[in-house]
Amino acid sequence: MGTRKTKAPPPAALGRASTKKDLPDHFKNYRHVWVFIELERGQVHPVSFELLGEGRRLADQLGVQLAGVILGPPGDSTRHAVAEAFAYDADLVYLVEKPLLTDYRNESFTKALTDLVNTYKPEILLLGATTLGRDLAGSVATTLLTGLTADCTGLDVDADGSLAATRPTFGGSLLCTIYTLNCRPQMATVRPRVMRMPQRSNKPVGRVIRHDLRMLEDEIVTKVVGFLSDGQSENANLAYADVVVAGGLGLGAADNLQLLKNLAQTIGGDYGCSRPLVQKGWMAADRQIGQTGKTIRPKLYIAAGISGAVQHRVGVEGADLIVAINTDPNAPIFDFANIGVVADAVSFLPALTEVFIRRLAPGNHIRLVN
Ligand SMILES: Cc1cc2nc3c(=O)[nH]c(=O)nc-3n(C[C@H](O)[C@H](O)[C@H](O)COP(=O)(O)OP(=O)(O)OC[C@H]3O[C@@H](n4cnc5c(N)ncnc54)[C@H](O)[C@@H]3O)c2cc1C
Repeated sequence: MGTRKTKAPPPAALGRASTKKDLPDHFKNYRHVWVFIELERGQVHPVSFELLGEGRRLADQLGVQLAGVILGPPGDSTRHAVAEAFAYDADLVYLVEKPLLTDYRNESFTKALTDLVNTYKPEILLLGATTLGRDLAGSVATTLLTGLTADCTGLDVDADGSLAATRPTFGGSLLCTIYTLNCRPQMATVRPRVMRMPQRSNKPVGRVIRHDLRMLEDEIVTKVVGFLSDGQSENANLAYADVVVAGGLGLGAADNLQLLKNLAQTIGGDYGCSRPLVQKGWMAADRQIGQTGKTIRPKLYIAAGISGAVQHRVGVEGADLIVAINTDPNAPIFDFANIGVVADAVSFLPALTEVFIRRLAPGNHIRLVN
């Protein structure tokens, strides 16, 4: 891969507080790993489970507990979120249940989460880099005056117990590891699908710590009056699709995007694109795949007319099977594709679609590689 990992100097070499021993006294009793369980309009976002998997690993390395943090209205959806947190291996759950928390609003969620942190003092706090998570993480970090590393692609614990949060930098050509040395908690966000989905353990129950939210509706400036569809809600699942067909500049014209859609529809998949197609206005931004778009982990990824730049590669390399169609036999995408087809995508895509239509006709069977 074209991305190089910087050799991060050990925190001590930076001449600042680097171990728990050197931390200001009031931070020394910060312990345990917390994962914010994102519950929006009744649904737990799957990135929360991916983060519980990571959180479990970090907590085990540190020898501390893993907690889920759930903020929501009283009712079934919040109860379900608590049960799911335990099923994905949380040791305990911090729960703030209030009608005020029915819909996400920055003021109420920031107050609830910062109150919890100030009371129970976690050492590490992880959130999904979703629209909600990014908004909340930024305001919680600035309220608590602590460090936040956004869009991490790797999380680890150093020998001295510090969180080593790795993320792309300099346009994706380097990876850097960032430490929060002098503040607690150490906060990080991770985009959906960057981390693997852990096994659901079916652990039925655990300890729930309820916490109050001392806030009145009158104190919240933001009022939710309703939800409007942007007409693109069907796009929300691209990150979690099992089959994705994507196109790049090699498709040559906006009209040729229909070829992608036809193939995706035929094989029951979703479709996406490289960044230049969004910049040209050929496809909506929420279909962009890559470093500044979506990360995907499908069973099958078909890339047509995409060169395989590192910023695109980081978004697709978790796919089980990558099929690349490109006229240039030296295109970088062939370095990491499992199957390479040197061909004109504009004629190859309809031919492939035809084959699938025939093979998928009643009486025929097709099996995707697992
Ligand atoms: C900070 C930053 C963030 C970025 N984030 C992203 C991101 O999230 N996602 C992303 O995709 N990019 C991102 N980019 C852009 C990235 O660097 C590349 O420029 C981009 O991925 C290239 O898109 P492409 O492969 O479609 O186009 P090109 O690189 O121009 O490649 C087109 C390919 O099509 C092939 N081709 C031409 N004609 C045909 C044909 N008829 N049939 C088949 N193949 C053909 C060519 O051989 C070529 O390999 C980012 C860049 C920066 C600096």
